[in-house]
Amino acid sequence: MSKAMTEQELLACFEDAVSFGHIFVTYQPKINHSTGRMIGAEALMRWKHPVYGMQYPSDFIPVLEKNDLIYRADLAVFESVCAFLRRCIDEGAVPVPISVNMSRYDIYRKNYVDEIEKLRVKYDIPVKYLHVEVTETSAIGGMELVSGVLRKLHDYGYIVEMDDFGSGYSSLNVLKDLEVDVIKLDMRFLSGNIGGRGGTIISAIVQMAKWLGTPVIAEGVETLDQADYMKSIGCKYVQGYLYSKPVPADEFLEKMNLLEHEPLTPAMDLVAKMDAGRFWDPSSMETLIFNNFVGGAAIFSYQDGKAEILRVNKKYVREIGMNMIEQEILESDPLQAFDEENKRIIVAALERAAETKEEQTCETWRKVCSKTCGEDMICVRSFIRLIGKTDNQYLFYAMVQNITAEKNRFNEVYESERRFRAASEQANVYAWEYDIATKQMRPCFRCMRDLHLPAIVYNYPEPAIEVGIFPPDYADMYRGWMKQLDEGTVDHLEGIIPLTVGRVPFHVRYTLEFDESGKPLKAYGSATLVVDDVKE
Ligand code: C2E
Ligand code: CA
Ligand code: CA
Repeated sequence: MSKAMTEQELLACFEDAVSFGHIFVTYQPKINHSTGRMIGAEALMRWKHPVYGMQYPSDFIPVLEKNDLIYRADLAVFESVCAFLRRCIDEGAVPVPISVNMSRYDIYRKNYVDEIEKLRVKYDIPVKYLHVEVTETSAIGGMELVSGVLRKLHDYGYIVEMDDFGSGYSSLNVLKDLEVDVIKLDMRFLSGNIGGRGGTIISAIVQMAKWLGTPVIAEGVETLDQADYMKSIGCKYVQGYLYSKPVPADEFLEKMNLLEHEPLTPAMDLVAKMDAGRFWDPSSMETLIFNNFVGGAAIFSYQDGKAEILRVNKKYVREIGMNMIEQEILESDPLQAFDEENKRIIVAALERAAETKEEQTCETWRKVCSKTCGEDMICVRSFIRLIGKTDNQYLFYAMVQNITAEKNRFNEVYESERRFRAASEQANVYAWEYDIATKQMRPCFRCMRDLHLPAIVYNYPEPAIEVGIFPPDYADMYRGWMKQLDEGTVDHLEGIIPLTVGRVPFHVRYTLEFDESGKPLKAYGSATLVVDDVKE
């Protein structure tokens, strides 16, 4: 049975609590939800009074802060974590990095960072095993002060995590101005409506963090849905009841030895001239440009043949998204959309862009798939530029144009040209097909070029008569031919017809094709210059 202690009781018992270990530490794992491996843990303070039982941080921490005692409790926690890590190392276990909380009141203490450093040295713990969590609200005490503390922590080699990101009023500015290595995003600040505004805010924060190359850990993750959602928007690191409640040291040690470990992936250096911070600052010129003044544009990362879209603007969604929404685009695997040949083209362009650091252009066909429109092929012209790079991960900026219509038009013309040129140019004939059922005539390339006919002539032969290809005095005779073809009363027709306004004599021939039941299907027409006939 536990009973919450009053402020007086807490203060009266504090010295004993520190000396006799009533204040102790529990550990909560941080997990990569994609791999199931452990990436670290957070040290959380507990106070178990011998008589009153378990006290909760939300009750006693504000009391300690108010009475200027929190630094003593925090140092006790830090020492306890160092002792735990020493024990792990001595026992031959490989520890994960443990994050220790730093109260914003600790920031006001001039020597606090030196004091934790002394403890680390005393226990001889490699600094890589210790992270410090600083809450976002620390910035309320003044940016200079916090910046100074972060610098000192960094100088000693500690990784700094920004705790409770998203809770403060000035989150975006804090992120931009403070050099933190990891962002912790608390689901509880945004819970309840992951599909709505909360989800939009979370995904915006995750995207911004990606711009900065800062890994994000989602905390307070209680359900698989939450973890899967976070993973889907690019945040694979989670901490919360889903994987484990905070547990005592021994229990944690067991978990730690059982699970495989992995490090947080390193942040990405951005090429100096492209200021990453400015790209997500909603009021910066870069954002203005990205959203308004360029066409469709996307930011994506590329590593070892794998690409991930990090950000797209509205015009990108309109240009090549078909009916996909932005979220669907961000979730899709961009290289999956290409066949081998087109993948080779785009990857070659990426490699050239990475190597030359100059803009590269390519045209590729890709498959797009949306819930409303299904699958389709589109052709995209991309202008690709490298904007950031680490050892093996690249960050690219791409402007895109959907040139599908342009391409299809070109291909159509090219295709018909190729087909008919081969046939007609060689034989020096004009050729066409006439479809009995639809009365449509399809002229060859030369007919189109020399007689200015469209690709399909409807209600043939009237339009051809109208434009004077068949002179009026031959029109009725020609209509009679067509009638015989339509009725299937002949299988073959030929005669000399002077064609065009120039009345050039042509040898015109028709062959009729029938289906199995004897019904006429198609007539194949040709016209050869009579002069040529004579010469041959
Ligand atoms: P925090 O730093 O944000 O710590 C995370 C809190 O979320 C912890 O509460 C943890 O138990 C709780 N939590 C973790 N996963 C879940 C989950 O899935 N669902 C829910 N509902 N809660 C989850 P705890 O341990 O009660 O600590 C509360 C706060 O007290 C901490 O928030 C931190 O601000 C402060 N605190 C804890 N330990 C220390 C410490 O050693 N020093 C200082 N200065 N503050 C501490
Ligand atoms: Ca924390
Ligand atoms: Ca937190």
